[in-house]
Order: sequence, then structure tokens, then C-alpha cells
Amino acid sequence: MDEIRIKALKLYGYHGVFEFEKEEGQNFYVNATLKLDTQMAGLKDDLTRSVSYADVCCDIEQHFKDNIYNLIETAAENVAIMILDKYKLISEVMIEICKPEAPVTQEVENLSVCITRARHTAYIAYGSNMGDSMATIESALADIDADRCCTITKKSKVVVSSPYGGVEQDDFYNGVIELSTYYEPKNLLMFLQEIEKKYGRTREIHWGPRTLDLDIIMYDDLIINSEKLNVPHPDMLERDFVMKPLAEIAGYRLHPIEKKTIEKLASKIGSQYIK
Ligand code: ATP
Ligand code: CA
Ligand code: CA
Repeated sequence: MDEIRIKALKLYGYHGVFEFEKEEGQNFYVNATLKLDTQMAGLKDDLTRSVSYADVCCDIEQHFKDNIYNLIETAAENVAIMILDKYKLISEVMIEICKPEAPVTQEVENLSVCITRARHTAYIAYGSNMGDSMATIESALADIDADRCCTITKKSKVVVSSPYGGVEQDDFYNGVIELSTYYEPKNLLMFLQEIEKKYGRTREIHWGPRTLDLDIIMYDDLIINSEKLNVPHPDMLERDFVMKPLAEIAGYRLHPIEKKTIEKLASKIGSQYIK
């Protein structure tokens, strides 16, 4: 991927945990690397096919004028989100915020925070079989979309399915959404668990009734096997109420382990749980 690089953009800012930092301010320097495809802009000598570094410099400067944070971590996070939100051609951004005059007692040449943020594509399966399931799902999806690190880009139809896992309980409402997200996988899981909690999810019976269940089915083409997170979801291929809705919105995608399209994998499952 091509890069536009901004080096040591000098800005005056008021970020810091100390009162005097917020009052007097100090010098900051920002490094930014913007990843995007500049090939057609280059071939056609056409700025409209690229991103104006002048505009990005102005936007960062304006952000420093409009906001005062305790942490340069927060400044970096918010500048990264601002750039990804505004410039859709940019797929990834590295932001380093340097604070060479930071109040530490030692002599130090520079102090900085450097982060990389990108647009990721995730598929989330939802399920509910307690309370007013349709209302819960609608409201939870609106909450997800309202979060500044998430945009819902596709929604499957809602399917009604029989309970899974042998526990006697009501029918489920299931579906899958496609998400454009800035969250890293474990932070996405944490965010989704907060939404589950908001709708009253408690974990009592495994595979038991739930007001809302949100599972990460796929995240880019990543394969993750950690204690708290397995992606692609290990049981997705066994569940028609996941695979059929997923095929509706992402049939063309390859399952990162099976290396077959979702469409093909979904067509192999007969009707099991979907009514
Ligand atoms: P299942 O995941 O088989 O549908 P469940 O939804 O009933 O079962 P939960 O209680 O919702 O199980 O989740 C148990 C744990 O699974 C979570 O705390 C989470 O850490 C872990 N987990 C692992 N991989 C994933 C994933 N891809 N999406 C969501 N949770 C996951
Ligand atoms: Ca689940
Ligand atoms: Ca779950």
C-alpha cells in the first residue's frame, strides 16, 4: 500500500494531566502516515484521486485547537478516528504525537505515543430468545451503529430458529451484520459484551436462554485462537442460523481456514434449526 507521510507537524496544544499544561500549553509535533492507493492519482496527475496532505495538516491543527485532553493517547486516538472518518480513501493511519517538553524530571530528547488504526471488516451474529427479541435486536444494532468505532454496512434478514444445544427454551431470532470497525479484535469483543450486558445478558446456563448474544464470526481474514477469543467462530459451520444469514451478505468471502466461499459452505448445510 502507498503512503503519504507527514513529519513533525508543529502544533501548540494544551494536552496534559497537570493544570499548568492545560493553561500554558506547550509544543507538540505530529507524525502521520496515511495508507492509501495513490496509483491512479499519480498516473492521471489528479489530486481528487488522492488525499490532500495540506487538508490533513489543517484538520490535525484544528483538532488541537478544539480539544484539550489529559493524555496524548487520547489525542492520537481521536486524530486517527477523525482522519479515517473523513478520508474514505485512507485504509490505515499511523499517528505519533510527540511531546518533547513533557514535564518529567529527567532530561529526555522526546516522548511520544504512536498508534496505528485501520478500517476492519467484521461479521457479527446475533441471537435472542427472551423478552421482546425483535425490539432488543433493533435497539442493540442501533447502539452498535451509533458507536464511533463501528458502522453497520450490511444486515441479513432475521431468521427464526429452534433452540440449539439441547436446553428446553423458546425459539431464537438470529441474524448477521457486517461491521466496518476501528476496534481491534479483543476490544470489539469487549464492546459487544458491554452491549449484551446493557440488554440484561447474564451467563447462567451454557447455551441457555438469552436476551442478547453477540458473537464475532469473522474479522478480516484473521485466525485468532486465544483463551477469550476464537475467530472464525469455531462452531459457525455447524449452524444454519449463522451460515445462511452470513451467506446472504458475504457469500463471496472465503472462510479463512476452510478456504472455501461462505456461499459454498452454507449450501452444504441442510435446514437444521431455521424454521
Ligand atoms: P457459543 O459461543 O458456542 O454460541 P455462547 O454464546 O452461549 O456459546 P457465551 O457465554 O456467549 O457462549 O460466550 C462465552 C465466551 O466465549 C465469551 O466470554 C468469549 O470470551 C468467548 N468467545 C470466544 N470466541 C468468541 C467469539 N468469536 N465471539 C464471541 N465470544 C467468543
Ligand atoms: Ca453464541
Ligand atoms: Ca456468545
